Amino acid sequence: MTNPFLTVANVRLIEQQVKKILSAKSSSKDPEVLNAVKGLAVAEIKEKLPNATAEILHAISNISDRTDAELFKESLKRYTIPFKTISEKGLQKLFRKDKKLKLPKLEMVDWHSISYLSWLDSGTHRQYIVIEKDGAFVALRGVSQPQYATKGICAICNQHGAVHLFTATVKGNADMYTSYSNYICDDVETCNAHVTDYEKLEAFVARNLV
Ligand SMILES: [Zn+2]
Repeated sequence: MTNPFLTVANVRLIEQQVKKILSAKSSSKDPEVLNAVKGLAVAEIKEKLPNATAEILHAISNISDRTDAELFKESLKRYTIPFKTISEKGLQKLFRKDKKLKLPKLEMVDWHSISYLSWLDSGTHRQYIVIEKDGAFVALRGVSQPQYATKGICAICNQHGAVHLFTATVKGNADMYTSYSNYICDDVETCNAHVTDYEKLEAFVARNLV
């Protein structure tokens, strides 16, 4: 039994490459084109994930249709390190200053498919974000501004899509408050599917906590 060694973001990166293979497959009948795309996919994964095993790289080169891709994605699950499970109590502790904290439905969360946990209180428009850093949780709270919904680049996953303004307010020295606003994806699930670089996610949270 192999120990899980891929983060969810690592898995998303691999999936992105698999998607490129499938789209090359559907747009060209030339086997050489397909092989070239596979070569690039493998090279990219090797470069960004030096710990990817030969078995994984081999499986990627053998993908030739959607069924292979699905089976391969399924096979990655056993190597995936899920997001550290957090309980309702744990969340209450993280956001202890928040009176009447509205909690997400934790039983609905697929811990194997998220790089960060986020939910919105539609009453107060507060949006909560939790990431993991060095085995601990880091919590960020901001205000989601759906009135500023638009299309743009998300500050978390860096993909283009439907975004809204997220504003975090930080108390600095001498009771001065500073607000930081960023556009982030409207849909947390879609965003999580696009997070391939955990460091960028950490940097986003850190920027808003300062
Ligand atoms: Zn996003």
